[in-house]
Amino acid sequence: MEQDTIVAIATPPGEGGLGVVRMSGPEAIAFASRLFRPVRPGPLRSYRLRYGHVVDPTSGLVIDEALLAVMRAPQSFTREDVVEFSCHGGPLPVQQTLQACLDAGARLARPGEFTLRAFLNGRIDLSQAEATLDVIRAQTDAGLALAQAQLGGWLAREVRAVRAVLLELLAYVTVIVDFPEDEVEPQDIGPRLRTSLQTVTSLLEGAPQGLVYRHGARVAIVGQPNVGKSSLLNALLRSDRAIVTPVPGTTRDTLEETANLNGIPVVLIDTAGIHASNDLVERLGIERSRAALAQADLALLVFDASRPVEDEDLMIARLTADKPTLLVWNKLDQQHPAAPSLASIAAHLEHPRLAATVATSVATGEGLETLVQSLVQVLLGGHAPLAAGEARLVSNPRHHDALRRAYEYLAAALAGWDANDPTDLLGGDLLAALNALGEITGESVGDDLLDLIFSQFCIGK
Ligand code: GDP
Repeated sequence: MEQDTIVAIATPPGEGGLGVVRMSGPEAIAFASRLFRPVRPGPLRSYRLRYGHVVDPTSGLVIDEALLAVMRAPQSFTREDVVEFSCHGGPLPVQQTLQACLDAGARLARPGEFTLRAFLNGRIDLSQAEATLDVIRAQTDAGLALAQAQLGGWLAREVRAVRAVLLELLAYVTVIVDFPEDEVEPQDIGPRLRTSLQTVTSLLEGAPQGLVYRHGARVAIVGQPNVGKSSLLNALLRSDRAIVTPVPGTTRDTLEETANLNGIPVVLIDTAGIHASNDLVERLGIERSRAALAQADLALLVFDASRPVEDEDLMIARLTADKPTLLVWNKLDQQHPAAPSLASIAAHLEHPRLAATVATSVATGEGLETLVQSLVQVLLGGHAPLAAGEARLVSNPRHHDALRRAYEYLAAALAGWDANDPTDLLGGDLLAALNALGEITGESVGDDLLDLIFSQFCIGK
């Protein structure tokens, strides 16, 4: 495939130890030679680092001191000739090195274009290309393990193996239908159809778990002022051994932070950090609770155990009626002597989607571990937590959807075969299943979908 030569800055903007400019394409090495002056002369050999200077090809002025890595096709990320300049990590040396590559004749890469080329040149399949983005974006160790396994190609291999079988079956039924007069050895294709269906079924079985670990969930913490919402938020974030990324919520009334709860990235949507105004409704937190809940998959409804349940508590509880809800009875250390049991409070709520109740004290730490476990259980919807080292799970909604369709077609094909339906009907189902599976590995996707997938990447990847 004839391609032009592309270039981009591969490291994040700003100051850093190193800044990397990457170029890929048939002329990458020729262009690099125009702007790189090695300290010691000699040819640019593959997988050898060269020390030297990047110079402006027109003025001859030194831009930076740099290392040049050369990776000749096909042993490179894109399977094309690739060069990488490791410059000093400042905006100017990196920008000017990029500009020198452009002046030498390269074109600025589009987002994800290096990875797209790796896919188009057959070094990786589409599921692996998508996994590179998941590796970059992983928020927990479990998410990273899932992404790395997918990058390793297990899903691609499973899907390809099923497709290979289906292709044989399709060839067989096509011959029977198109050349009925030919003497073809009759085959019992039932067992192979059944095995293919089993493989797809087991891939589908792991998906709900995989999707939760990759995407996590959004959880709104709601309750009256002073019940301990921000204390609870901070406690949940403290249990976080990974990165905490505070981002403003999507409405002005909320804040968001991501906590790592046993490997599941959970965005906690918080109404607590915002000061109440004089407005009565505002003070009750109704509007803010509504705003937080609108963005959430699940509610943490917080009540204060040091005082009786108030009408305002019940008002907020009613707002959570359409979300799976965990009732958190906080300040257990100051529990009101006349307080009813948590069970009777929960019963009194008559909440249609109450998933669990947990008594906590942020002050003493009591119940917090139980809270995390209950939350994780509810998020996993009854599926088992990820065991250590287990990472072969479908975790991409696009793959999940394609597998579901493949399952439907295969089940229809098998039912048809078992019922001795006309063979040409079988061919239609087999072809549809093949195409659905091909969407995962990329054999049967259009340019529109490729554009959509790769546009989510950053420039330089
Ligand atoms: P928010 O308005 O709902 O966010 O409540 P805060 O988290 O700001 O807590 C209100 C007050 O209750 C603070 O003084 C906290 O220190 C206190 N608090 C929170 N949780 C507990 C708890 O479990 N026990 C006790 N004794 N005090 C708590």
